[in-house]
Amino acid sequence: MSAVSPEAAVLPSLEVSGLSKAFGGVQAVKDVSFAVAEGELLALIGPNGAGKSTCFNMLNGQIRPDRGSVKLSGEELVGRSPAQIWRRGVGRTFQITATFPSMTVAENVAMVLMSQKRELFSFTKRAVNRHRDKAIALLDMVGMAQQADRPCGFLAYGDLKRVELAVALGNEPRVLLMDEPTAGMAPRERVALMGLAARLAHELGVAVLFTEHDMDIVFSHADRIIVLSRGELIAEGNADEIRSNPLVLKTYLGEGQVYGRKE
Ligand code: ADP
Ligand code: MG
Repeated sequence: MSAVSPEAAVLPSLEVSGLSKAFGGVQAVKDVSFAVAEGELLALIGPNGAGKSTCFNMLNGQIRPDRGSVKLSGEELVGRSPAQIWRRGVGRTFQITATFPSMTVAENVAMVLMSQKRELFSFTKRAVNRHRDKAIALLDMVGMAQQADRPCGFLAYGDLKRVELAVALGNEPRVLLMDEPTAGMAPRERVALMGLAARLAHELGVAVLFTEHDMDIVFSHADRIIVLSRGELIAEGNADEIRSNPLVLKTYLGEGQVYGRKE
């Protein structure tokens, strides 16, 4: 991983302004504006139903906003398809639903790399092997190179999530969107994955936006935090500022069942 220069670290990579979306009578997201800088790990937090996933879905083109703008290094993304947005370098971690349990980790990653390059028509074992070096390099970034030759079917859930991240990195994203990336993971795996996301931001200069319910993880890994409540941004700041923000305490952290919630 190469270090990002200090100048690059302050450039806004993704700029969101006035983003709004209603579903019928529900104003899911209301006039939301924020920016994520290169090399920054920004957490978007808020109670269930606050509009976090709707925000993510508008950023990557799955949902078209009613109003507002999403700019990637100055270029408007609203109106573009998810595929176009993805090709411009906005990555998203997805559940790998199409992993072949009997194929190895490296083969699975190589296959996704091929499908990203639209080479699946030439999908043969030999073609997959051509992408092995790139697959191994990506797996190395997420600490999975040593398991490259294990069948995917033997992986622990947390390790599959790392593989998923390796695949997202294969697209060389400038922005990485992670909507509850640690859902379903054991506490130790959660901390490890967020630590990895922080390294990707800080060492590769990727702008990372993530949601996470575990406030201990958010407070220990996020560079900055924004808080959504009923579709509106109600606070922005570092961990100390958010912890002591009266409005956040009242609308979110005050709900004891959410703060420090463990599944
Ligand atoms: P979060 O991710 O913060 O839990 P969501 O963005 O999923 O919140 O949901 C925000 C609000 O929008 C909720 O009231 C939810 O019920 C509603 N909502 C989300 N998606 C849809 C949809 N496709 N159709 C109708 N209502 C939706
Ligand atoms: Mg959600």
